[in-house]
Amino acid sequence: MAKVLVIGSGVSGLTTALLGLQQGHDVHMVYRDHWSDTVSAVAAAIWFPFAAEPQDKVNSWSRDTYEVFEDLASQTKKTGVFMTNFLVLVEDPEYVYWESALPPESVTPAEPDWILPGYATAYYVKVPLSDSSVYMPYLQETFIELGGTSEQRTVTNLKEECKKADWVINCSGLGSQALCNDQKMFPIQGQIIQLEKPLEPVKTLMDEHMPHRLAYILPRTNDVILGGTARPHESSTDVDPDATQKIIAQCVKRLPVLANAAVKNVRVGLRPGRSQVRLEKEEGLPIIHNYGHGGSGYTISWGCAREAIGLIK
Ligand SMILES: Cc1cc2nc3c(=O)[nH]c(=O)nc-3n(C[C@H](O)[C@H](O)[C@H](O)COP(=O)(O)OP(=O)(O)OC[C@H]3O[C@@H](n4cnc5c(N)ncnc54)[C@H](O)[C@@H]3O)c2cc1C
Repeated sequence: MAKVLVIGSGVSGLTTALLGLQQGHDVHMVYRDHWSDTVSAVAAAIWFPFAAEPQDKVNSWSRDTYEVFEDLASQTKKTGVFMTNFLVLVEDPEYVYWESALPPESVTPAEPDWILPGYATAYYVKVPLSDSSVYMPYLQETFIELGGTSEQRTVTNLKEECKKADWVINCSGLGSQALCNDQKMFPIQGQIIQLEKPLEPVKTLMDEHMPHRLAYILPRTNDVILGGTARPHESSTDVDPDATQKIIAQCVKRLPVLANAAVKNVRVGLRPGRSQVRLEKEEGLPIIHNYGHGGSGYTISWGCAREAIGLIK
């Protein structure tokens, strides 16, 4: 059993900290921002590999995570995780990079009506969706229940933190830009809209014109999330009213049932972009890095946590 200090209370930090406890370690979490003020709280969040590299590792971490989420989906009320039939409109069949991350038989062809002009095909993909407004508190509460401790402060020197624990696991997301002087990191700004849930059923849908255009509709327990934008190197967290109009218009075009749903909130978050996810032990120091998950922080959370905890000798 090791004394482990996890930096960060976003989905990466909380998942890693929780898994550390489950594997018998003594875990303390340090965070600058409460989970509700992280980019993890902005995400909806659907399981789907997006804007994270390298693709082969991302698909493998995604597969591991899928299995855990499938288990958590058996207790939706408690965890906020449920399985959904995600309708994915595909423009370029060569761009179905995510298929190998899925269990066999989870992809089925959609009705021909959904193959809109300009699209090659459309699929239903059975994937987990974690309603972050339920799932993040679930992670936090389970961490405390299992004996985890935490404190709110900003870490400025990773080496100094090594004096306080056997191992330090850095899950500070975009914070690693400053903490590790990491020039490979960059923000990917994303804006989403939270709508009142209409009485009529709403499909879970994504338009795969990515990365140039991105449209998705994610009905959750109490709301519907519309997305979105993905703007690399954009670091403002101000709402862009023009983007709000465009997101609503592109989603209503695909699902007219949303036309009269009231807007509850509009949120902007900065995804922790990086040329590649950094998941490695630092040479000569008991520091493990687990950050740079881009647009896939939820999708690869358990796979990455498992690998990070596995690096503890
Ligand atoms: C609009 C939008 C939609 C998204 N949708 C999805 C989706 O559907 N599915 C999906 O998988 N992903 C999605 N994402 C991406 C996902 O939100 C991120 O990949 C994920 O939240 C990153 O989690 P993290 O824990 O690594 O970072 P964060 O959530 O940013 O957490 C970082 C933590 O580190 C702390 N920290 C930073 N610096 C320091 C420091 N120096 N000292 C102490 N603590 C520090 C912070 O305070 C925070 O607690 C979306 C993102 C956006 C913006």
